[in-house]
Amino acid sequence: MSGSRPNLGDLAAAVRGLGIDRLYPEAEIASLARSPMSEGTTPKSPAPKERASQPVVRGYRRPEPEVVAEKAARLRALEEPLRSCEKCRLCESRTNLVYGVGNPDADLMFVGEGPGADEDRQGEPFVGRAGKLLTDMIEKGMGLRRADVYIANVVKCRPPDNRTPEADEMAACAPNLLEQVEIVAPRVIVTLGGVPARGFLGNKTGITRLRGTWLSHRGIPVMPTLHPAYLLRNPAAKKDSWEDLKQVIAFLNGEIDPRPEGEAHKRKEEREPEEPGSLFE
Ligand code: SF4
Repeated sequence: MSGSRPNLGDLAAAVRGLGIDRLYPEAEIASLARSPMSEGTTPKSPAPKERASQPVVRGYRRPEPEVVAEKAARLRALEEPLRSCEKCRLCESRTNLVYGVGNPDADLMFVGEGPGADEDRQGEPFVGRAGKLLTDMIEKGMGLRRADVYIANVVKCRPPDNRTPEADEMAACAPNLLEQVEIVAPRVIVTLGGVPARGFLGNKTGITRLRGTWLSHRGIPVMPTLHPAYLLRNPAAKKDSWEDLKQVIAFLNGEIDPRPEGEAHKRKEEREPEEPGSLFE
């Protein structure tokens, strides 16, 4: 990988040439390249004063324009056919497919349940009140920008009346999420609420017991935490969610590693087969 700074003109042209506009808009790419991350893994700007006493993410992978463009193209190729997907009944209540948003080469990936009304209207995950809270958790809490992370859901179409997706609907859509994870290849995943823990990780433990416990998905550490919509209804639980995110910050900063010794440096093909959602023990 090159260590040179992104050439915005070349990058924008390459991305436009691939027909990518919504997944990773040019403005976001330019903004990403202006990010302190583009100067190295440690942001140059000091953490804002109000964050002086709380941890923020310092170690974050520098975006490589070529990798970003290549991964964005692969994600786009997966997203396009889903716009007419009829593999489950949720296609009947879909206004827009809500595939995913953010940095296609992100270190940190969030996985939610499924689109709500605002998301269905705009075609982007986490844009309503819960989305605003998630953005605050990322930006005011972790010291990153929303555009630095990748955000997706287990199901890509809105369940009617915001009901929980059925098991067969999650099973129909989960392969799309697995492919997204494979392409983005984040260092760490945060699942939001109980549905991803069940539908994506296959873990049946209730989220209030499961949260804060490191899990594993194909060797990638997974931190389950509470859904922002739950936090809006139960503000007292925000401190629990922040404890979970502090563990993620510590992992990204290289201060902790929940993986068994030796696992961290193994290539994917060298790892033992793993039950989905298995606990690190
Ligand atoms: S939720 Fe997933 S599987 Fe179901 S119709 Fe939408 S894209 Fe297809």
